[in-house]
Amino acid sequence: MKTIDDFNFENKKALIRVDFNVPLDATFKVTDTNRIEAAKPTIIKILEDGGSAILMSHLGRPDGLRNPDLSLKHILATVSDVIGVQVKFVSDCIGEEAEKAAAVLQPGEILLLENLRFHSEEENGDIHFAEQLSKLGDIYVNDAFGTAHRAHASTTIVAQFFPQKKCFGYLMAKEIDALEKVMRTGKKPVLAILGGAKVSSKITIIENILDKVDDLIIGGGMTFTFVKAKGGKVGDSICEDDKMPLALEILEKAEKKGVKVHIPVDVIAANAFSNDADTKVVDVDKIPDGWQGLDAGPKTLENFKKIILGSHTILWNGPVGVFEMPRFAKGTIAVGNYIIEATEKGAFSLVGGGDSVAAVKQFGFEDQVSYVSTGGGAMLESLEGKTLPGIAAIIED
Ligand code: AMP
Repeated sequence: MKTIDDFNFENKKALIRVDFNVPLDATFKVTDTNRIEAAKPTIIKILEDGGSAILMSHLGRPDGLRNPDLSLKHILATVSDVIGVQVKFVSDCIGEEAEKAAAVLQPGEILLLENLRFHSEEENGDIHFAEQLSKLGDIYVNDAFGTAHRAHASTTIVAQFFPQKKCFGYLMAKEIDALEKVMRTGKKPVLAILGGAKVSSKITIIENILDKVDDLIIGGGMTFTFVKAKGGKVGDSICEDDKMPLALEILEKAEKKGVKVHIPVDVIAANAFSNDADTKVVDVDKIPDGWQGLDAGPKTLENFKKIILGSHTILWNGPVGVFEMPRFAKGTIAVGNYIIEATEKGAFSLVGGGDSVAAVKQFGFEDQVSYVSTGGGAMLESLEGKTLPGIAAIIED
């Protein structure tokens, strides 16, 4: 795996795919600078080597049209502030103007290109468009994990114009490293905690992960498909009846592979899908009609705690309850705290893909776990065992 540390950028122009798809408010101010900050170490290393940086990104979904609301010009001042360098801007990402701006760029300088998705060729993975982008830099750096699962021109196709001169930025390298630690080189016992709403959206992940883990915790809305499949009563809980045979198959496969599956034994049941509902603790397989399980119960959390604290490598994907409602967030907060405790004792913990990242941020756990992935879809596809095109394009040389 080649990273920017394998190159010296002195007098080189780095063409860097970053993910600056940041949220803007009504006055076009950046409301969350996380993604810009995440790309900073890569940019700084290149500048400190004596190189220059040409940044390319998408913003929103302009669908091939020049939508002024989605111009990257809006984020120019914020990027300059975060990086600490006055960043230049060019109002198109390809063509004469962009080529000129790139050509006159001096070591230590940064150029931000206009939104890649103003051209439909970007998302279509057009090779001619990619070739035009490639003219702007000497070395291609991909540091946009959030789009690594897309075979777009700037994330994948452009790499072929940089034989031996392409690499990952620090952010991408960190994401790949964290995944590697969980999926391949993690210290045993390895635990995956899979929550969220539906079995159907996690099925490929579960199947892939059964080969990698020693323990699997199933939580959240997914629980009830498993419980009902085993003959339990789940009341009005979310349940995918058509996925029940699949749930039984998963349990059978897990047993054959020696993976211990841990399913909640009790839940906080509510008489409505509402924060103001009446609640009671019930056994997971005896939920009365008119009631639905919305969070993990106390016995379940005790069980989860033991398993989490006994694990050396932990992957967490998906909340174990309806954490958006404060009264059903306790289970998800408790799981977060157990993971933090395990991490403090030396476990490696990765939180990634979907709503567990939102939960971790909302409850302030972000800095206390080993790594929080920045790419929702890209992380999910990696956990499903797919090779991401943006990663493959750098590796195959
Ligand atoms: P996902 O994006 O698949 O990780 O699913 C996250 C969603 O699952 C969140 O919006 C949670 O509110 C929801 N969820 C978790 N537990 C339950 C539950 N017991 N019943 C209904 N929805 C749930």
